Amino acid sequence: MSAYIDSLKKWCEDMRQSYEDFMTHVKSEHIQNQLTHWKVQLVQFQEKLSHSIHLHDLDLYDRANELYEQLQSHMVGDKESIEDHQRLEENTRIVPIGGHRLLPLPYAYDALEPYIDEETMRLHHDIHHKSYVDGLNKAEKEMQKMRSSDSFDLIKHWEREAAFNGAGHYLHTIFWEIMNPHGGGEPTGELMNAIEKSFGSFNQFKAQFTEAANAVEGSGWAILVWSPRARRLEILQAEKHQNLSQWDILPLLVLDVWEHAYYLKYQNKRKDYIENWWHIVNWPEVEKRFNKASTVKWKPY
Ligand code: MN
Repeated sequence: MSAYIDSLKKWCEDMRQSYEDFMTHVKSEHIQNQLTHWKVQLVQFQEKLSHSIHLHDLDLYDRANELYEQLQSHMVGDKESIEDHQRLEENTRIVPIGGHRLLPLPYAYDALEPYIDEETMRLHHDIHHKSYVDGLNKAEKEMQKMRSSDSFDLIKHWEREAAFNGAGHYLHTIFWEIMNPHGGGEPTGELMNAIEKSFGSFNQFKAQFTEAANAVEGSGWAILVWSPRARRLEILQAEKHQNLSQWDILPLLVLDVWEHAYYLKYQNKRKDYIENWWHIVNWPEVEKRFNKASTVKWKPY
């Protein structure tokens, strides 16, 4: 418990640091006032944290997250200084290249006991998830360097690293959030309808998901996905967790480089095929996909 409070305290310290850095070059007076007010609230919350023995950790997390989101929206507001902060925030907040972060668990390390033990959570979140975040940031920065130097000798290595660590980071972020000490039971509403339509019944879904998870070869994941094409739910396994995809992403532009796609005309000259392929890319369709896909936005961590 106290280690969890410590991680929230650390988060607040980080926020305070971002605030201090940002305050030194804020342009709008309106935003300055808002930020000053925000800081008062942060300080109050930090005081609360230091006497937190009787408080509920889920409430503490929610409050910390609220402060985080407010700070982000003030920062964006200053940059553009327009009225509609909320909408703008939704549309502009991005994770910068190499700027992914590990946020604290949304509950205490021991909150999922007895189902998942405290030590596992500590190791899993603080060590394993952290290393995915670090690895993803490193891969993104290395790929940025490759682009600016136009030298792609290590492209295969860094693409693999980006997929491995990106999948690790995104899947774990979802994993922490789809668990809760007050969880269990069955879903309701539209999701329940979709499960029944896709799998027959909740019990059949649960049986298949359980078996799929148990049968993953080596390390990996069982994943319930929405297929926008089939318009149904499906259950998939991810061995290890990447196979060079990051999950949590939506494909926009795809190029088939299986030999069957080019062998008759190009034989082994894959690069020629790729270079020629650029003449026939249907950008309006890719734009259409992008415009639709980019409306799906999860909280940027
Ligand atoms: Mn894991």
